[in-house]
Amino acid sequence: AGLVAIVGRPNVGKSTLLNQLVGQKVSITSKKPQTTRHRIIGIDTKENYQTVYVDTPGLHSEEKRAINRLMNKAAASSILDVELVIFVVDGSKWTDDDQMVLNRLIAAQKPVILAVNKVDQFKDKEELLPHLQWLGTQLSFKEIIPVSAQKGTNVDRLRALVQRSLPPCEFFFP
Ligand code: GDP
Repeated sequence: AGLVAIVGRPNVGKSTLLNQLVGQKVSITSKKPQTTRHRIIGIDTKENYQTVYVDTPGLHSEEKRAINRLMNKAAASSILDVELVIFVVDGSKWTDDDQMVLNRLIAAQKPVILAVNKVDQFKDKEELLPHLQWLGTQLSFKEIIPVSAQKGTNVDRLRALVQRSLPPCEFFFP
């Protein structure tokens, strides 16, 4: 199964997007990671592939406070073995927290798909594009895709991109 991390600062729409991608959320009974490094947040099983979405604790801090070195280390190691990252941003807003996540992704050197969320809020493409062009130069994104997690816009395309970016599935979890 392909291991994919969904990252982004709070409120960009990660949970909403995950729900769209997976259909229904895997119920997490424990707050503890299922593996030493990851917390599985969703599994998308289709006919011939399976994608496991995981959380990368510390990579996108849920709190404003400065992240200590230990947490940075944990974040760094939790992202080590994912095959792909979906970096979710709010198309209308770029904050210091987005920048922090971006910096970590640059350091992690993983393939990243940039999902520009909440595009339903834009009447005009021009509003979105200037900002996107700058962002596009910051990291060698595999793809940049505008989505609306709320409306489901482009979610199928995103899923297809994810699928295409992952190695073929050799076995399925039961
Ligand atoms: P998370 O903290 O990154 O997991 O973000 P959530 O999924 O909890 O979403 C944060 C807020 O943004 C919620 O109020 C969502 O309803 C809203 N939201 C998420 N996706 C979209 C979208 O595509 N368009 C709009 N307009 N709002 C969205």
